Amino acid sequence: MIATGPAVATVGFYINGVWEQPAGRTQGTITNPANGAVLASVPYATEADVDCAVRAAQAAFLKWREVPVVDRVQVLYRYKTLLDQHAAEVAAILTRENGKTTDDAKAEVRRMIQMVEVACGMPSLMMGDSLNDVAHGIDCKTIRQPIGVCVGITPFNFPAMVPMWMHPFAIACGNSFILKPSEKVPLTPTRAVELLHDAGLPAGVLNLLHGGKESVDALLRHPLVKAVSFVGSTPVARYIYTTAAAQGKRVQALGGAKNHLVVMADADMEKTVEAIIGSAFGAAGERCLAGSVLVPVGEAAGPLLELLVKRTKALAVGDGSKPGVEMGPLVTSDHCERVDGYIGKGLEEGATPLVNGRDFKAGGGYFLGPTIFDHVTPDMTIAREEIFGPVLSVIRVPSLDDAIDLVNRSPFGNATAIFTGSGKSAREYSSRCEVGMVGVNVGVAAPTAFFPFAGWKNSFFGDLHAHGKDAVAFYTEQKVIMSRWF
Ligand code: NAD
Repeated sequence: MIATGPAVATVGFYINGVWEQPAGRTQGTITNPANGAVLASVPYATEADVDCAVRAAQAAFLKWREVPVVDRVQVLYRYKTLLDQHAAEVAAILTRENGKTTDDAKAEVRRMIQMVEVACGMPSLMMGDSLNDVAHGIDCKTIRQPIGVCVGITPFNFPAMVPMWMHPFAIACGNSFILKPSEKVPLTPTRAVELLHDAGLPAGVLNLLHGGKESVDALLRHPLVKAVSFVGSTPVARYIYTTAAAQGKRVQALGGAKNHLVVMADADMEKTVEAIIGSAFGAAGERCLAGSVLVPVGEAAGPLLELLVKRTKALAVGDGSKPGVEMGPLVTSDHCERVDGYIGKGLEEGATPLVNGRDFKAGGGYFLGPTIFDHVTPDMTIAREEIFGPVLSVIRVPSLDDAIDLVNRSPFGNATAIFTGSGKSAREYSSRCEVGMVGVNVGVAAPTAFFPFAGWKNSFFGDLHAHGKDAVAFYTEQKVIMSRWF
């Protein structure tokens, strides 16, 4: 719920089924990145707010876990219908606060709804195993039970979809949930929670708080919180994992990325270039699956770069809500400056700019054009660090073995792709790369809701991945029951 006053709208908390407008809290400002206009202010939850939400969630959990799973998912069926009806509206809010294009926002909302659709299958997904006569007259079965109050802490780049990796699965399993979305983009998750309220979710089963480190720390340390799902940057993911695990909580923490796109000389260059454009510059590079390092193998570099540079120079950059725009602004002015700093580093450290995003001029918003650096070496800052913007670094290598070595030396292992016409190269690469999500002629290898989603190495801390069957295992405790009747 968003309250509008004389000045600017304030985003509310949703605790125990009631929308609250807390006064006297630290406030953050939400802007439209396409023009810098202030959209709303957001209050940051204190430790006392967190305690209040957790207690409400715990009380709701004790009742919700008794509701049969077939009845729990009825709320999600109604939620899916409401989300379908409001998809265009949610996408417009998303574009307004995050900057991604309307097409991209609609695609994100479709993925968000798909999570709910999959969670509706919980009666089948939660089933256990059974075996009669494990010993004479003794039967054995496993059941899955909810664990209690679960927490989700989510990033700015997918404010519609990423919260849905978590709470539809958690609540369908019989848990209660507290969502703390990114304080940079709270409007989309707020609208999504309003629709869940309208779908008839009982009070306290899902609660929404806003804020930064103080609210996160209070959630991580609260004794009634049993599980924490996190998606965000690697340093914060590592912190969340170590802090919450040390408190005895179950944790899955998905972190940052540095994704390599490997191109063999036998690839279909035109289709490959389109896929690279989508991967590197879609959502202004603000995707954890964004291609950030392009690795042409052998003779691939010449024809690939010629086409890629031509297409990149023609990319339509602008306000994501306008038709025909292919790349929107960066999320905040701070982030825009940070990415600009990486372009500076690339120039300073001797990479060759084939396209320089600083040449793009737009008044008002947080814009940078797409950038391509050639002759990047693995030791350069732009080759090593996550930039999270539209900057693509080209590292040329002589062979597929060299490409695999390069990719496997990265401390990140989120996603990668190979472009090739050879099944042998594709197979070799997919099996030897140390990366969690691999695309073969697919630039953004984003697993759909029924598959698990997570990277390897510094891109993921935990055991069970997001969504798919892993989410059912993450949000339930398994019990084995052995029975003998005299
Ligand atoms: P972030 O790490 O800055 O913030 C993520 C969340 O953590 C937010 O809710 C924020 O309020 C909270 N947070 C920030 N600093 C904190 C701190 N010091 N202590 C406790 N909580 C803190 O990430 P972001 O900038 O919002 O999102 C971009 C990052 O997310 C990128 O690194 C991107 O790769 C990553 N990401 C990863 C995936 C994945 O699946 N692996 C998906 C999307 C985004």
